[in-house]
Amino acid sequence: MIIPVPPSPCKQELPLVNFQNGLIMESLFRHHRNKDKVVVIMGATGTGKTKLAIDLAKHFQPAEIVNSDKIQVYKGLDITTNKVTEEECGGIPHHLLGAVDDPNYNFTANDFCHHACSAIDSIVKKDGLPIIAGGSNSYLDALVNHHAEFRLRYECCFLWVDVSLPVLHSSLQARADRMIEAGQVDEVREFFDPSADYTRGIKRAIGVPEFDDFLRAEANGEDDMTILRLLEGAIARTKINNCTLANRQVQKIHRLHRVWRRSMHQLDATDVFLRRSSGDSADSEEAWQDHVLAKSLMILHNFLYK
Ligand code: ATP
Repeated sequence: MIIPVPPSPCKQELPLVNFQNGLIMESLFRHHRNKDKVVVIMGATGTGKTKLAIDLAKHFQPAEIVNSDKIQVYKGLDITTNKVTEEECGGIPHHLLGAVDDPNYNFTANDFCHHACSAIDSIVKKDGLPIIAGGSNSYLDALVNHHAEFRLRYECCFLWVDVSLPVLHSSLQARADRMIEAGQVDEVREFFDPSADYTRGIKRAIGVPEFDDFLRAEANGEDDMTILRLLEGAIARTKINNCTLANRQVQKIHRLHRVWRRSMHQLDATDVFLRRSSGDSADSEEAWQDHVLAKSLMILHNFLYK
């Protein structure tokens, strides 16, 4: 059922990281510690978890990413589910991404714990740093709070990428428009099955059930005006549902924060998004480096080496 993504060897020279005012030599001697270390990147949909995971993996090589998004574990619907592209991965191996072939399979929190543990074990055996990243807080809760083997073997540092909700909502709406431009409608049309059960597997993805009435109208040969009206409705519902998802995810993170407070670090990326929305991508990238990446590097340096 699961197709393991073969990890590529990524041992490199020890990197020198230009880190605020000084140079810090990143070393990789983690194995002498009692517990192995795992980094967990949390945040609502669309906050930049994937980018942070890849940026950090490049700094702390060898590092590999374990996906914890319950919809991205399935194969397919890459645009709709906003999967990272091969180019964006920059050669960093990813686990549990597009790994489940059966679109109807119910990939449970237990499945996640089982597969995430074996991926993490394989990364640690190679002296690599496992970075878990994804928005499914129920998976993280099951793994970190309830999975005995994980609790026994690993110590976690949680990085929470936070964006003020009104700012995130407008970014999610712009992202939904970009997905449409990138071909989401064709992608969902190919998956369309009039007898689909939208409560199972990958078809739960936001951006799939919302298009049902539009695709039915198309299949039934209804008139262009009706089809266009239904398409606009589908896009509007997708935007609303993404914003609602973000709100729910933030509420769950606040609950987990009460439990993991001591090892959880909140990184405010709002400024990154504000600058991006004003059209200055260089300025936005600078804000990312300053407000999110540099702080994360400092936190992880303390976590890994002190
Ligand atoms: P819940 O218990 O509500 O399912 P969770 O913490 O297990 O929450 P979430 O990641 O918050 O998992 O996902 C909740 C719902 O959000 C999914 O069932 C799906 O409808 C939608 N969703 C999550 N990730 C994606 C994605 N990558 N693309 C599209 N929709 C998604």
